[in-house]
Amino acid sequence: MEVIDKVKTRVYRFGNKKADGNSKMKNLLGGKGANLAEMSSIGIPVPPGFTITTEVCTEYNALGQEEVVALIKDEVEQAIDNIETLMGSTFGDIDNPLLVSVRSGARVSMPGMMDTVLNLGLNDEVVLGLAKKTNNEQFAWDSYRRFIQMYGGVVLGMKPASKEDIDPFEEIMEHLKHKRGITLDTEFTVQDLKDLVYDFKEAVKKRTGHDFPTDPWDQLWGAIIAVFNSWNGDRAVYYRTMHGYPADWGTAVNVQAMVYGNMGDTSGTGVCFTRDAGTGENVFNGEYLINAQGEDVVAGVRTPQQITKLGSQRWAELAKIEEEDRAKDYPSLEELMPSIFEELNGYQDILEKHYRDMQDMEFTIQDGKLWILQTRNGKRTGAAMVKIAMDLLKEGMINEKEALLLIEPNKLDELLHPIFDPAALKRAHVMAQGLPASPGAATGKIVFFADEASKFKNSILVRIETSPEDLEGMNIAKGILTARGGMTSHAAVVARGMGKCCVSGAGALKINYKTRTLTVNGHEYHEGDWISLNGSTGNIFEGKVATMEPELSGEFAELMELASVYGKMNVRTNADTPKDAKVARSFGAQGIGLTRTEHMFFEVDRIKAMREMILADTVKGRKQALEELLPMQRSDFEGIFEAMQGLPVTIRLLDPPLHEFVPHQLTTQKELAEEMHISLQAVKNKVAELEEFNPMLGHRGCRLGNTYPEITEMQTRAIIEAALNLKEKGINCRPEIMIPLVGTVREFEAQEHIIRTTANTVFEEREDTVDYLVGTMIEVPRAALMADAIAERAEFFSFGTNDLTQMTFGYSRDDAGKFLPVYIDKGILKVDPFEVLDQEGVGQLVKLGTERGRSTKPDLKVGICGEHGGEPSSVEFCYNIGMDYVSCSPYRVPIARLVAAQAAIKAAQ
Ligand code: PEP
Ligand code: MG
Repeated sequence: MEVIDKVKTRVYRFGNKKADGNSKMKNLLGGKGANLAEMSSIGIPVPPGFTITTEVCTEYNALGQEEVVALIKDEVEQAIDNIETLMGSTFGDIDNPLLVSVRSGARVSMPGMMDTVLNLGLNDEVVLGLAKKTNNEQFAWDSYRRFIQMYGGVVLGMKPASKEDIDPFEEIMEHLKHKRGITLDTEFTVQDLKDLVYDFKEAVKKRTGHDFPTDPWDQLWGAIIAVFNSWNGDRAVYYRTMHGYPADWGTAVNVQAMVYGNMGDTSGTGVCFTRDAGTGENVFNGEYLINAQGEDVVAGVRTPQQITKLGSQRWAELAKIEEEDRAKDYPSLEELMPSIFEELNGYQDILEKHYRDMQDMEFTIQDGKLWILQTRNGKRTGAAMVKIAMDLLKEGMINEKEALLLIEPNKLDELLHPIFDPAALKRAHVMAQGLPASPGAATGKIVFFADEASKFKNSILVRIETSPEDLEGMNIAKGILTARGGMTSHAAVVARGMGKCCVSGAGALKINYKTRTLTVNGHEYHEGDWISLNGSTGNIFEGKVATMEPELSGEFAELMELASVYGKMNVRTNADTPKDAKVARSFGAQGIGLTRTEHMFFEVDRIKAMREMILADTVKGRKQALEELLPMQRSDFEGIFEAMQGLPVTIRLLDPPLHEFVPHQLTTQKELAEEMHISLQAVKNKVAELEEFNPMLGHRGCRLGNTYPEITEMQTRAIIEAALNLKEKGINCRPEIMIPLVGTVREFEAQEHIIRTTANTVFEEREDTVDYLVGTMIEVPRAALMADAIAERAEFFSFGTNDLTQMTFGYSRDDAGKFLPVYIDKGILKVDPFEVLDQEGVGQLVKLGTERGRSTKPDLKVGICGEHGGEPSSVEFCYNIGMDYVSCSPYRVPIARLVAAQAAIKAAQ
């Protein structure tokens, strides 16, 4: 570790319209800390506080607790002093106590992944002072029991012992509620709360062997260290890995003066969004609870009320509540506290304009005074992301480039997922209704526990409510359904972030974890039963409802048009069938970058001829079988050319090892022997003969075409004849014939010779010609190194980064699954190099191959057709090294187009 800088600032203060930091300092102060500083500077009322930097978290991981506390002790004490001055109260003081909150905050928001402690600074004496100061005993004791509960869970590890168990503190509360015959937390009397505090502390002593800490400073340091530790907790590590965030980012710690939403009926707390995070609609919305603290809204224990009257009416309609009852029992904040609402509405407007993006804010009303606790760019669904970007553009708040840069490319994937087929939807039986928490269509079998989400291929996670521990299972499940919780519950927020369909707060569901059943209106459903969710309407359907393909329309289409204006690099598709080709074209593909011809041979009517070809012992026998395949291949190519209507189509000659085509089971071997009138033994012998120790490095790619030239001849003939046939019909074609797995110049030349000779023969026969190109895959490291020589003959290059990754790392594509997850887990690799191009290593070969190729042929067309061609960071790399195009699967085409535009914009900045 480098030498520790003892003098740098590690603690940044904010409050009273001043701040040491600002919103640009997210890496150092974390997102929350940077925004608190910014808000304070622009005059938004945030409770004063300070942020301990993310660097300290990293120092803590390296140096340990003692040294780090020594490093920041003075600064923390001065910062507490500053809060005391601004709030006019004193930390630990019995008569006039200051209480604080301690919250994590990484540079990007990781909702619920790390820990928070509220009401810190209370003990048996301070609670009395707080009661006296606020003249509210109920509030003081409620705050104290909450503090012990949170501190116990977060700092002292008082968690449920097993997944079927409930939280140890909840258990004590449930017990008391039962004894007293009450159901709500708000029904506890002062004496109940005092009893709870006593019982909680006893439980802590029993479980941990230590008394609950009474010194506020001990409490504070305990909470700070717990927040640092939560950065390396299971939940946070899983979330980081899922999003590819490195471990060395660390989390900041935010300590702030407490403000209270639980001081009675003139207090409350809530969460709000400047626009709808599910649909993107430009309506201010959110939820609040009177007499509550922050975690009550997200925990889904009480069902929150809507902030705006419009939102409240929409909610009531879904919940089937009459207007009269709504206004009486569930009024909006707009109706209940009009002046607070006006103030909040003003801040949301200021903040959205200031950040020029949709904001997700948290607020607390303490005895009629509004405080803003947090703002951040709100998580949103893919659909909302696109609508918000295009709306902000139309409203003139951002320009075209900014609109494109607001898009998170991978989130577009959500818009390319299936939706419910309207016809099937009409027939479907609605078993219950919840809140439309995160749009989309999901069908799957019921599971009740997050760690069992992978029990079925398609599962729907059904929970009373979710918690951060459920993250992994929520990610695996196709959809999430909860019985409790509103639009800002944990389930709803996390699902929207993941782009996962979610229906929350379906109050009619009775869930029993022990019997693994779900009961609705007297009907019982079990684990493994199929249900379907519509996250856009909140409908829950019995059984499996059919889905259909999405299309590119509305704001999504407008966004893609904008991407075409700024994107300089072309996007092609990998497609083996006319259907795929059409889908890709509808998404804006500008050609086909790879047609894998072998896939065509697996179809039932072809595999027989293919096997005959492979089993033939003579050239004559092989040619006979190839004659049979020719018309089929030709019609395949005609279909693809027709679908692409004159756009370039790259067709790759046969690539895989031949043993992939022969039968390996006795029954199919027997059938083949009978069909071919040869002995079973002869089939077995041939299968054995084709077996290779290392097929991926064996008899495949152009090694096939060079040992069996008749295969290349047949395929070339099929391509050229198909092109000529379409030309006769007036359809233009631009075939590009691609030779796979070339490693030496001679390999290329030998194949090119066969291709050109065959094409010329067909031209003579047909007395007509078409233009075509002959190029190569660059997927063997040697080809990248020899690219200048290969480019003497090759008319284009396409980087096959699947094989190039395999051969550069020496990781078998077929076996890497055994060790890559372990490597990623242990941090030996950051990501799977077969998914995300290894720019450092493999990328060097791609760059060098492109440069060397172009040193011979400056206008050499270069593209990529490995899986990386649809992965955002890899696409950006391809643009930056000057590729002409990337090629990816049809459903990734919009993503690649967007990244191409973003890359061009970023490069010009
Ligand atoms: C590649 O190797 O990157 C490639 C596209 O070819 P295949 O995946 O078919 O081997
Ligand atoms: Mg390959």
